[in-house]
Amino acid sequence: MTMLSAEQAYGLLRKYRIKTVNHGLARTFQEVELLAENIGFPLVLKIDATQIVHKTDVGCVRVAYSYDMLEEVYKEVTNNAKKITKDVNGVLVQEFVRGLEAITGSAHDSQFGKVMMFGSGGVLTQIFKDVAFRLVPISKEDAENMIDETKVSQLLNYRGNNIDKSKIVDVLLKLNNLVQTENVKEMDINPLFLNNKGAFAADVRIVKLDS
Ligand code: ADP
Ligand code: MG
Repeated sequence: MTMLSAEQAYGLLRKYRIKTVNHGLARTFQEVELLAENIGFPLVLKIDATQIVHKTDVGCVRVAYSYDMLEEVYKEVTNNAKKITKDVNGVLVQEFVRGLEAITGSAHDSQFGKVMMFGSGGVLTQIFKDVAFRLVPISKEDAENMIDETKVSQLLNYRGNNIDKSKIVDVLLKLNNLVQTENVKEMDINPLFLNNKGAFAADVRIVKLDS
């Protein structure tokens, strides 16, 4: 089993045309500055290290609201990461996105085989337990039903939200192809940000089977 780096994982999302939040990977503070110039503030800085799975829990995800804060935030996340591992690939610099947070992904169930998952995401996803599962491969109808089974469906048009369900269905069907073609053991996208512009991956974890 191999856990992909962020670069490899985002590369696979790109290959399957799954949209991500605007981002780049920096290996030095200079590269962070360059990305900041292109993306604009506020920005999210997060560590890419295969040893660090739950980044928020260890202070490895921070928002920089302006240029003044950038170096301090960079130092903070890199220092927090160094306390845990020497093996840091870099710092992901992302556009700060607003929206509903969903989770989607795939896992291998010893009884049923490969399954797809969709539901309420974010750092509290384990507490909400609002997820639906289907066996792979899923149909368009399966994807629609998975969304409808969760509370996410009730929020799509709630209080000014105007989230296009077909854009979520599209992501689920693309993931369905990805997990079948790319020898994926398990993966998740959490959060998949949902807003009036569509669905955008902001955190991805992919574990491949060794072939
Ligand atoms: P981890 O799951 O490893 O803790 P995430 O990258 O999922 O790290 O970030 C944790 C939380 O931080 C997300 O659930 C979301 O609330 C927030 N967050 C992460 N990236 C962004 C972003 N680009 N824009 C806005 N909020 C973000
Ligand atoms: Mg996450």
